[in-house]
Amino acid sequence: GVRVRPIPRVIGADVPVPLRNGGHVSYANLDYAASAPCLEAVHEAVIRALPYYSSVHRGAGYASQVTTGAYEKARETVRTFLGAWRRSAVVFTRNTTDSMNLLAHAVPAGTSVVVFETEHHASLLPWKRAVRLPAPATPAEAVSAADRALRESPIGSRLLVVTAASNVTGELWPLAELAQVAHRNGARIAVDAAQLVPHRPVDMTALGLDYVAFSGHKLYAPFGAGVLAGRADWLRAAGPYLKGGGASASVGETTHWAPSAEQRHEAGSPNVLGVIALAAACDTLSAAWEAVAAREEHLVQRLRSGLAALPHVRELTLWGDRAPRVGIVSFAVDGWTARDVALALSDEHGIGVRDGKFCAHPFVRHLLDGDGTAVRASLGLGTTAEHIDRLLAALTELTSR
Ligand code: PMP
Repeated sequence: GVRVRPIPRVIGADVPVPLRNGGHVSYANLDYAASAPCLEAVHEAVIRALPYYSSVHRGAGYASQVTTGAYEKARETVRTFLGAWRRSAVVFTRNTTDSMNLLAHAVPAGTSVVVFETEHHASLLPWKRAVRLPAPATPAEAVSAADRALRESPIGSRLLVVTAASNVTGELWPLAELAQVAHRNGARIAVDAAQLVPHRPVDMTALGLDYVAFSGHKLYAPFGAGVLAGRADWLRAAGPYLKGGGASASVGETTHWAPSAEQRHEAGSPNVLGVIALAAACDTLSAAWEAVAAREEHLVQRLRSGLAALPHVRELTLWGDRAPRVGIVSFAVDGWTARDVALALSDEHGIGVRDGKFCAHPFVRHLLDGDGTAVRASLGLGTTAEHIDRLLAALTELTSR
């Protein structure tokens, strides 16, 4: 028969939090897009790794060999998780911000970079010079705008930078089509997948993605480990991102830098446990995608239809109701600042959301038609229907004051 895999469990899905009235309630964490709680399987993988915890690559002792093996195996796990080409580089970084800055460092001088202004600042800001495209009114317009901008770019290397899933609206960008127009124009495509990988599988080979970046801490692993995966040539040709041990192959009067993209850009002792944890999260999610996606689909539906029924609540969307999206929903509440909504949700209902502009100032300004802030509810593996219903009831109560 068909084996039904359970939803992977997170740590802290049921912790008590204090309320302003003196009582306590089980925490409704609706802030997964900022950082996701740790998976139980991630915790177990770290516990298993600890007895042989040692420094990688440079030690000959048994523990060092075991840890090096685990660290390099994690690279292969990530490669499989992303459907990356066998010969592509998988560089461990600190987070998505670090990955995008590494890519910006490695991009050949004179490369024309094209980026949508809807990006998270981590993907918007690292480029020395970039053409910024305004928020497109439809996914098709995103593709045609990228096509035009790349075609009109000066001859030379070209790079399109785009988000996979928006950290503000959760909307999914048409990656396969964008990759096609990039390649048709002799450009590469770099994808900020920070908000996609916790929710849906990615297949770099099938989609034709040249680079993918993401963070471990949004993928149910701890802070401090991230990934930049993709074509090795630019990375191998660039000087080391950090200079030091590991990045250097031989040092005398002149320094020869390590030839592999990974060694060259991972100078210093790496975050071994973070990487092992990140890989455990990749393995755990890979085995559970169908159940994870179906469950989230159901919950986000419940949230969005509930919000739509509230007269004073306005969901922010770029492409409208029917656009495919992951479990991230931002909204404005008439007559309330986002901060006051978020504080009331926390202090009176034990609900954790985020408020502000979500490190995507140009995009939020576009969505709100000017300055302002929004509230963001984002879902993950520990989210329950009760959390959604509690948020909807709380908003109903707030807006009727
Ligand atoms: N890109 C997107 C789409 C994000 O949502 C985030 C995190 N908010 C980042 C990049 C930056 O991730 P990190 O803070 O882990 O570098």
